[in-house]
Amino acid sequence: MEKKDIKSLFPQEVEQQLIELGQPKFRAKQIVSWLHEKRVNSFDEMTNIPLALRRVLEEHYYINSLTIVRKLESKLDGTVKYLYELSDKNCIEAVLMKYKYGNTLCISTQVGCRMGCRFCASTLAGLVRSLKPSEMLDEIYTAVQDTGERVSNVVLMGIGEPLDNYDNVVRFLRLLSMPEGYNLSLRHLSLSTCGVVDKIHRLAEEDLGLTLSISLHAPNDSIRSQTMPINNRWGVDELMKACRDYFDKTGRRISFEYALIDGVNDEPCHAQELAKRLRGMSAHVNLIPVNPVKERGFKCGSRQKIEGFQHMLTKLGVNATIRRELGADINAACGQLRREYMKEEEEEQC
Ligand code: SAH
Repeated sequence: MEKKDIKSLFPQEVEQQLIELGQPKFRAKQIVSWLHEKRVNSFDEMTNIPLALRRVLEEHYYINSLTIVRKLESKLDGTVKYLYELSDKNCIEAVLMKYKYGNTLCISTQVGCRMGCRFCASTLAGLVRSLKPSEMLDEIYTAVQDTGERVSNVVLMGIGEPLDNYDNVVRFLRLLSMPEGYNLSLRHLSLSTCGVVDKIHRLAEEDLGLTLSISLHAPNDSIRSQTMPINNRWGVDELMKACRDYFDKTGRRISFEYALIDGVNDEPCHAQELAKRLRGMSAHVNLIPVNPVKERGFKCGSRQKIEGFQHMLTKLGVNATIRRELGADINAACGQLRREYMKEEEEEQC
């Protein structure tokens, strides 16, 4: 019999499972608290659960956990980059950023990615598998345990496309925000997507209260289709329509990520086109100087060009900021730490 992943279950489901095992259902509350508040990694640590029940639980369930295989800490600003190993030996990344208002953790939602964005290191080796809800929770729980500090903001901007792992991500969000658990208000969570339009419409119906962040990176279809294959499935017009729908249904302001790539999407005419697209939307644009990825060959323009782009947007009435660079001394673009580690492992095996 295959054991079940108990940390991915809602309290009502734990209760139901206990009833099926002929156990008192009030134990569910205690078990959930051990898993999501005290965050233990074994049934034996659940000291108020009778030994006999602990054995039954062990027989039917497993408790997921992650190991930190590498940890890089910035000497400049305390940013921490974690390389985590999953129970099947796959690796994912998470980044902890320290701000005045609290700690933000950037987490992965998949092992690899199949979206194929041309500038992104996470997608170079394709998708291995999607993460389970418990594995995404553990990215947070492990960082909290390692630092001894609360994570107050979470961003789904690590490896993977969250909307390509829709059901697990939504379950994870509900588990993360439940009062019986980590109790994170989803107002403090951003989900970033390359633009999986059908899922954006679905997400608008979930009533989660999170902030949606769109990786736009281009003002028109011809540039966007060259750099982001998803654009061949849903073009910029359809994506914008989905954003408007999301805003109308949820009242939440959308933020747009725009990685500036020298000579590709960072000319003044692109700023004008972008401003036209966003006019009338309560939008915020996050400008990111593209992070060079060895295998890709894209680079960012001069500081002056980047600031010029921002000023142009502001002048045209679009709220835009340039992302502050954190952890410059441990810098690696999205997915690069995992990639480097994988290469080292391959070399060792040769
Ligand atoms: N799949 C999701 C979330 C993961 S990527 C998405 O596409 O939004 C997180 C963000 O980093 C996205 O905005 C992505 O486009 C951006 N990104 C990826 N590689 C980058 C690079 N080399 N330089 C700058 N931003 C990059």
